[in-house]
Amino acid sequence: MKTIAIVPAAGTGERMGTNNRKKPYLLLNKRPLLYYTLTALDSIASIAQIIVAVAPGDERFCQQQVLEKFHFNKSIQIIPGGSSRQESVRRLLERVPEDTQLVLIHDGARPLITPELLDQAIAETMVWKATVLAVPVKDTIKSANDTLQIEKTISRERLWAIQTPQTFERSVIQEAHQRASQEGFTGTDDAALVERMGVQVKIVMGSYDNIKITTPEDLIVAEALLKKRRNNRRDR
Ligand code: C5P
Repeated sequence: MKTIAIVPAAGTGERMGTNNRKKPYLLLNKRPLLYYTLTALDSIASIAQIIVAVAPGDERFCQQQVLEKFHFNKSIQIIPGGSSRQESVRRLLERVPEDTQLVLIHDGARPLITPELLDQAIAETMVWKATVLAVPVKDTIKSANDTLQIEKTISRERLWAIQTPQTFERSVIQEAHQRASQEGFTGTDDAALVERMGVQVKIVMGSYDNIKITTPEDLIVAEALLKKRRNNRRDR
């Protein structure tokens, strides 16, 4: 099945507190975050092409700092993203060729995704049509009112922390984004747009290592996880 990977990486990364370097280009073990995300996607045989959305105006910078500095085998296209993640994904979907069966959406800000998890996401989507990677919630989750008084404790047993990749049949995700945009609906992930069409979305077990880099502490954790991976490889 022809699969296209699309990568929203057009966020400003404000919560990183680094005004001079945008998040996709922050260095993790001397390489830009986006390098790791693209390298994992590049290694998957069934992915035909990768399309990345970057902050408008950063296209050349991304080309020079990531695509030309490192070696990738697949065709990687860079396009300007939108003012929200959803808008960036909508623009990316417009570039997906019509002969594509599956679209895998993976945040540029999750550099620790592994080829094994990407393969699993794609294999499960061939069966289920719509999948998200997720892990069981570890913390106790409560809801509170505006003055921080707890309203209730939500049973953790059925709660999942949703990650990317989120993978869909092309027609399903394109229709979901089209409808959301026509109806002015904003979701916090792509699956939410698919769910509201009544399409069943299946969870694929993700990994606690597949963290999203949001704040400076996350980079420290990512560095430690990469080191653990290197050590594991050495021990084998
Ligand atoms: O905002 P958040 O950190 O959750 O963003 C998740 C992903 O969406 C990141 O990879 C970010 O670059 C991307 N994004 C985007 N366009 C935006 C905002 C976020 O592609 N306007």
